[in-house]
Amino acid sequence: MPTAKLNLADFIRDIPDFPQPGILFKDVTPLMREPAALRATIDRLAEQLADLDFDHLVGIESRGFIFGAPLAYKLGKGFVPIRKPGKLPYHTERIDYTLEYGSGSLEVHADALEAGHRAVIIDDLLATGGTVCATRELLGRLGAEVVAAAFVVELGFLNGREKLPGLSVRSLLTY
Ligand code: AMP
Repeated sequence: MPTAKLNLADFIRDIPDFPQPGILFKDVTPLMREPAALRATIDRLAEQLADLDFDHLVGIESRGFIFGAPLAYKLGKGFVPIRKPGKLPYHTERIDYTLEYGSGSLEVHADALEAGHRAVIIDDLLATGGTVCATRELLGRLGAEVVAAAFVVELGFLNGREKLPGLSVRSLLTY
């Protein structure tokens, strides 16, 4: 199938009440499994970021890694992982943040980025924006500037963009 004609929404599955009651989980594994859909996703994300001046893609564990690594390869950028606590082997910078229900923590290697670096954050989905807001602050502590954030899916009704003032937010599908 020509990738230009693919509707990526056809490859995203709604799972009600996962991982907890009341959450409609957007499952992107069918999109990853289909070769043409995966290729179209990476190609379209690359087009969305083509006009930006930056050096590193920063992927959020774990689905941000799956889209981020091939995108970094395609765009000729470096890749930096943001991980859950205790996973990164070297010195880390950590941020604790509150989510809509509960809290979370994220870490980055302390030497992953430095002043003057321009980063773009990549994740599969933007919901409330809390995760990306925390990641932006974490990267700011290293001295890096976050110029944009890219997503396959944006849940527009949760207004995640409002937590990211001044950031260019780009997504392939908005619900
Ligand atoms: P948030 O911090 O609220 O923007 O949540 C974003 C993070 O949680 C991303 O890493 C998503 O993968 C995950 N996430 C939040 N809500 C959903 C959802 N409805 N379906 C799939 N993933 C979600």
